[in-house]
Amino acid sequence: MRDQAAGPRVLLRRLRELMAEPLEPQERLDRIVREIAANMVAEVCSLYVLRADSVLELYATEGLNPGSVHLAQLRLGQGLVGTIAASARPLNLSDAQRHPAFAYLPETGEEIYHSFLGVPVLRAGRTLGVLVVQNRTMRTYREDEVEAMETTAMVIAEMIATGDLSRLTRPGLDLDLRRPVSFSGMSFNEGVGLGHVVLHEPRIVVTDLFNEDSEQELRRLGSALGSLRLSIDDMLSRRDVAFEGEHRAVLEAYRMFANDRGWVRRLEEAVSNGLTAEAAVEKVQSDMRARMLHMSDPYMRERMSDFDDLANRLLRQLMGHGPEALASTLPKDAIIVARSMGAAELLDYPRDRLRGLVLEDGAVTSHVVIVARAMGIPVAGQMKGAVSMAENGDAIIVDGEEGRIHLRPQPDVEAAYAEKVRFRARRQELYRELRSKPSQTAEGVHVDLLMNAGLAVDLPQLSESGAAGIGLFRTELQFMVAATFPRAEAQERLYRDVMDAARGKPVTFRTIDIGGDKVLPYFKNTSNEENPALGWRAIRLTLDRPALLRTQVRALLKAAGGRELRLMLPMITEIGEIFQAREIIDREVRHLSRFAHDLPTSLRIGAMVEVPSLLWQLDELMRAVDFVSVGSNDLFQFVMAADRGNTLLADRFDPLSVPFLRVLKQIVDAGRASGTPVTLCGELAGRPISAMALLGLGYRSISMSPASIGPVKAMLTELPLERLEAFLADALSRPGAGRDMRAELAAFAGEHGVPL
Ligand code: PEP
Ligand code: MG
Repeated sequence: MRDQAAGPRVLLRRLRELMAEPLEPQERLDRIVREIAANMVAEVCSLYVLRADSVLELYATEGLNPGSVHLAQLRLGQGLVGTIAASARPLNLSDAQRHPAFAYLPETGEEIYHSFLGVPVLRAGRTLGVLVVQNRTMRTYREDEVEAMETTAMVIAEMIATGDLSRLTRPGLDLDLRRPVSFSGMSFNEGVGLGHVVLHEPRIVVTDLFNEDSEQELRRLGSALGSLRLSIDDMLSRRDVAFEGEHRAVLEAYRMFANDRGWVRRLEEAVSNGLTAEAAVEKVQSDMRARMLHMSDPYMRERMSDFDDLANRLLRQLMGHGPEALASTLPKDAIIVARSMGAAELLDYPRDRLRGLVLEDGAVTSHVVIVARAMGIPVAGQMKGAVSMAENGDAIIVDGEEGRIHLRPQPDVEAAYAEKVRFRARRQELYRELRSKPSQTAEGVHVDLLMNAGLAVDLPQLSESGAAGIGLFRTELQFMVAATFPRAEAQERLYRDVMDAARGKPVTFRTIDIGGDKVLPYFKNTSNEENPALGWRAIRLTLDRPALLRTQVRALLKAAGGRELRLMLPMITEIGEIFQAREIIDREVRHLSRFAHDLPTSLRIGAMVEVPSLLWQLDELMRAVDFVSVGSNDLFQFVMAADRGNTLLADRFDPLSVPFLRVLKQIVDAGRASGTPVTLCGELAGRPISAMALLGLGYRSISMSPASIGPVKAMLTELPLERLEAFLADALSRPGAGRDMRAELAAFAGEHGVPL
C-alpha cells in the first residue's frame, strides 16, 4: 500500500521550493496550480481569490481555458466556489454538475469535468479565496487528499496576506484582505484616536511550514501539549484561583479543550501530512474559527475564544516566545487591539505612543478601562471579531464617542475624523483658556471643580485641567494594578507624591474600596458571593481585616505630616461603622505621636453616601463626620436596583429623573442645615447637563474626571444659577410621573444660552 502521507509531503516540499524561487507572482501561481494538479493526479487545478467587492476572481488555472484567468468570476455564495467561500467548508463531489449550487461558466470550458474538490483558503479564520481540483471521471477524493489541499491552501493564504498577490489586482479593485471594515460596540472612554494597529497578543507568524521528519515533529507537538496541560493544571491548583467562580470555569474549559481528542487528532494529522507543529496549530485553528464564525449558536462562538487562547498558548510553547518586546517596534500612534487585557499590562505601553484602545470584551468599569480613562486614551469596547480582522500595522480609527472603530478606513472617513480631532483640539484650547478664569457662575457664585484620581499617571492632570484639588483619590487602584499587596512604604510614597503634586490644593483620600467588581487577583474571597455588589466590600471588608486599614491609615498619616489629611470612608451603611473606623484611625494617630512622628496639621474624616440606608439617618450622619461625598454611581445603582455594569440596563433609568434628583437634594439640604460640607464625586458630576442639575440643587463642590473639568467650567461660567434653582425647585415639587427632566433641563440651557 502506498504511504498516504508521501504525496502531500512531496507536494509541500515542491511548494516550498517554488516559494523560494525568484518568480513573478503570476508565474509562481501558474506553477503552483500545475504542481498541485500533477500531484493530485487531477486534470484541473484552479485558484480563486476573494476581492473586496465580494467577488471571487479566477487567478490561476491548470486545465481550464487559460484565457479565462482574471475574467471568470463568481459572487460570494454563487456557484460551488462561492458556496465554499461563504461557508468556509470544503466541497467534495463526484458529479459536480448535479449539485444544486453548480453555476456554469462557459468561458472556462469546465463542462467536461465531473468530480470536484474545493477548499477555502483561510487565514486567521477569514476566507481569502478558494482552491479547486477537478477530474473528468466521477470519483470521490480521499480524506487525506482533502487534508493535503487544505494544507496547500494555507501556503496560498500566506502568499495573499503577505502582499504578493495584490500586485495582480486590476486598478480600482482590492483584495478582500485590504477591505475597510467598521465595527460597532460601546464607548468606554471618550475621545477620537487615529493610528495603527498593535495587536496586544501579536499573531505569531509561522514561517516554517514544512517539517523534515514527521515522527520527530509529532514528538515535539506531544511534549508541547504536555507542558500546556501541566501549566493549566498548575493554574487550576493555585489557591487564589481555586475558589473564583468565573475564572475557574474558564480554566476548566481550557483543560477540557487541551485534552480534546478531536483537536489533538487534527493537529497530529496535519503534522503527519508534512506540516511543522506550529503550522499545524495555525491550520487547525484557522479551520475551526472559520467554521465557528458561521455558527449561529452564541455559546459555541464564545467558546471559540477559549480555543484561540489555547492555540496561542500552544504556539508560544512551541516557539519559546516570551511576552513580546514592546517599545522597540511600537509605532508612534499605536492603537492597541486586544480581546481583553489586565490593567497593569496597559501601563507597560509608553503613554506618549498610545492613541487608543480597542477591546473585544470588557465593560465600562473594567480595571483596564479605568486605567485607560486615567491615562486619557479613547476606548471602544465590545468589538467582537476585531482581533481576527486586524493585522499589525493596519490603519485604524477609534471613535470613543460613538463606540465605533474603522479598520483600514477609506480616505474620506479618515479625513472626516482628522477634522474631528482638529475640532476637539480647538475645543481643548478653549478649555485651556478657561483654566485661568475664576470658577464661578454668571452671577459670581463660586463652585469648586475638583478632579478624581487614583494613580500616579493622573497627577499631571491636576495642573493641566485647572482642578481646585482632588475630590476623590481612589486608593484601591494602586492595589488593583499591583501583583501583590503594595507594601506600606509603597503606599506612603504614592500618597506623598500625590500631596506634593497637589501643592497645597486639597486632596481627599478614600480608604481602599475593594470587593464587588474591584477584585484583587492576589486576595481571595473564599465565600462565593452571589451578589458581590451587595457583599463583602469597601468599609465592610476593611473593618473585618483591620490590619489592611491600619497599614493604609498609618501610611496616609505619615505622608501627610505637616499638612491637612482628608480621609473618606466608602460604602458606609450604618453610623456605627464610622465610629469603628475612627477608633482605628485614632489609635494610629496615638501610636505615631508616641514615636514623635510629624503628624498632619489637621485630620478631617468624611463618609461616602452610596447606600440608601443613610438617607434615613442624614442628621446623625452629618454630625458624625467632617464632610460627606455622594458616590452617585453606587447610590444610583442601589436606589434603582440596577447593576451599574450591566449593559442591558445602561440607558434604562435616568439619574436626571425626578425621584433621584429629589434624593440628591435631600442630601445637600441636610448638609446645609447642619453646616457639613457636601461634595458629589460620581460620574454624574462630569457631564455638563447633570453637573448643571447638581448646581441647581445646591451643590457647590463636585469632583469628576479631569477631562470633564473644561466642559463643565464652560457651562458654569454661563449659568444663571438663581433662575435654575427656582426652575428646579418648582419642577421637583410637582408630580414626576412621565416627565422627562433631562429634556426640561436641556431646554432650560438652550433658552439661557448655557453650553452643554
Ligand atoms: C461612586 O460610587 O459614585 C464612586 C465615586 O465610587 P466608585 O465609582 O469608585 O465606586
Ligand atoms: Mg462607589
